[in-house]
Amino acid sequence: MQILDGRLVAQETRAELKRKIHRFFEQNKQKPGLAVVLVGNNPASKIYVRQKIKAAEEVGISSEVFSFSGDVPTHELERKIQNLNRDSSVHAILVQLPLPSAFSSREVVSWIDPKKDPDCLTVENQGLAWSSQPRVLPCTPSGVMKLFEYYNIPLQGKKAVVVGRSQIVGLPMAQLLLRANATVTICHSHTKELSLFTKEADIIVVAAGRPGLLGGSDFKKEADVVDVGIHRTTEQGKSVLSGDVRFKEIQDQVSFATPVPGGVGPMTVAMLLENTFHLACLNTGKTNNA
Ligand code: NAD
Repeated sequence: MQILDGRLVAQETRAELKRKIHRFFEQNKQKPGLAVVLVGNNPASKIYVRQKIKAAEEVGISSEVFSFSGDVPTHELERKIQNLNRDSSVHAILVQLPLPSAFSSREVVSWIDPKKDPDCLTVENQGLAWSSQPRVLPCTPSGVMKLFEYYNIPLQGKKAVVVGRSQIVGLPMAQLLLRANATVTICHSHTKELSLFTKEADIIVVAAGRPGLLGGSDFKKEADVVDVGIHRTTEQGKSVLSGDVRFKEIQDQVSFATPVPGGVGPMTVAMLLENTFHLACLNTGKTNNA
């Protein structure tokens, strides 16, 4: 089996981006700007935000986190996002999800100016993406597509199964695979006998958010398996990260697979940076081929 090494591909993507951003800064005397809005105390969200900010700074994106307690009044959060919408030094606004349960993510996301929405969460950007004229593509699925491209994995005519149909991962993933001419089946929590579908597939992208949902007997030998899931569990007293796929069971069996960690996660961050730069170029009327 060959590993789809998200760390490597993300590193190369970021290095290329750093060069482009350097040129952009030389020409425009302005850095791309990313604002991250973090609400509540979710420890995993805090770690993800820290990783994103560090990666942004490394490529030359100026970034700032706006943290709010979980009981912030809704109007205060809205006012902050509206201010960021008006701030010309901010080109992308990321609201870290999930939000505490008192908030409607749909409502909070709707306050973001679509021209500053780097994860394609707003209705306008999703409409553009579904009608094949994307302003940006959602970070995680586009990161997966970049892995397929890097490792020359053909998609045309392949049987692809996406496990999960969330607005942020499963649905857009299926759409991108369809656009690449794969024949796509979407499975979800009401799918009966999931492994009947996965066993038939050439390409399987698993984004169910269920630790160890699928293992060796669920895939055919030549399958390419992408595991989007990420879970912190305890093994022999140690905290470890794992995915929706039981990696040890498939590593001697399938053709290509992503590990967790080191697979899709780094690609999601790299795509966030690319999208932020892309929006900076769009919003300032500059080219992104610097
Ligand atoms: P979600 O909870 O919004 O959606 C999960 C989807 O999986 C749902 O559509 C549901 O129908 C389906 N599902 C649940 N149980 C199932 C089952 N037993 N069989 C088949 N389908 C089932 O989650 P999400 O936001 O799409 O995220 C999915 C996973 O990916 C989570 O573990 C999340 O942490 C992870 N994630 C990772 C990255 C990354 O960068 N690596 C990015 C986003 C999400």
